[in-house]
Amino acid sequence: MERTELNILGEFGLIDRIASQSQIHNPTTIKGIGDDAAVVVADHGYQLLSSELLIEGVHFDLGYVPLKHLGYKVVVAGISDILAMNGTPKQITINIGLSNRFSVEAIDELYAGIFAACEDYEVELVGGDTTSSRSGLILSISAIGTVETEKITYRKGANANDIICVTGDLGGAYLGLQILEREKKVFLEAPEAQPVLTGHEYVLQRQLKPDARLDIIKQLRELNIVPTSMIDVSDGLASELRHLAAESGLGVRVFEEQIPIHQKSYLAATELKLGPFTAALNGGEDYELLFTIRQEDYQKILDHTTDISFIGFMSSDPTEAFFITKQNEAVPLTAQGWEK
Ligand code: ADP
Ligand code: MG
Repeated sequence: MERTELNILGEFGLIDRIASQSQIHNPTTIKGIGDDAAVVVADHGYQLLSSELLIEGVHFDLGYVPLKHLGYKVVVAGISDILAMNGTPKQITINIGLSNRFSVEAIDELYAGIFAACEDYEVELVGGDTTSSRSGLILSISAIGTVETEKITYRKGANANDIICVTGDLGGAYLGLQILEREKKVFLEAPEAQPVLTGHEYVLQRQLKPDARLDIIKQLRELNIVPTSMIDVSDGLASELRHLAAESGLGVRVFEEQIPIHQKSYLAATELKLGPFTAALNGGEDYELLFTIRQEDYQKILDHTTDISFIGFMSSDPTEAFFITKQNEAVPLTAQGWEK
């Protein structure tokens, strides 16, 4: 493959190259890349602003994460936080720290992923900063979004007896990472060995190309349902449930059988000798939405949406934080590595 050194383009050449690929999806973007700051129309309602910072060797390993996927994923991570406030993501900025280890083609790959996600989630890249780094790739995103004031959804706000809902399925991204780590170890020990990734496409995709649930936020809006509390699942279900409970001053009761785990995640977990529920509870990076709804909204969600599971209830007792197992035992949510 062709390799063009970054210094042939220079910083401004690189910025021009990025700018020429940026497309505007939102009419509220007045000025994107090219001036000292981006200009956006201040919508009615609230503006939301959120950031993520990813550092090579800490948050990702370029040994097995393709740059295009990394670009896509950083956008998913950035806008997932806007969605978790019940907002609509609109604009993003991306800061990168680069060394000359990266070629122009490599950066093109990174941005191809970023722009693919911009397209999928109807947001635009309106700015950023580019600098050199001596410690590998540094990538940060800031996302801007909007939400009508009466639709803003915080982590706090759940009521006792509200139903706890989660989108999609959980644990897959963590299991995908374990498959990648396993194959990396095999490769380091025996570089001639072929990686065994077949059969694990689902969990690998969950790790490498996660979805942000813009579709769910749109569905809730169409149904005129405002969740009473919400958070995105970036650190594992157990930790996110604890956040909702603590912020709302309540407890939670969640049923093991209701926790959505994909068939392919069970398969991967078995092969890795890991517990699928541990992966769902304590794994991370699924980028699903965890939220609570009033009892009266239950039927509407049941009738008109797909891909939402009802996993339990908020309890009025803040000291109560339990999983109810299939054997009807109550297990404290804090139990690490709990598995049945
Ligand atoms: P300044 O020195 O005023 O910050 P820069 O040369 O850093 O200006 O940036 C010029 C323009 O290019 C700005 O609109 C900035 O947001 C944009 N920009 C710089 N780096 C990136 C990047 N990596 N991705 C997208 N836009 C960028
Ligand atoms: Mg700058």
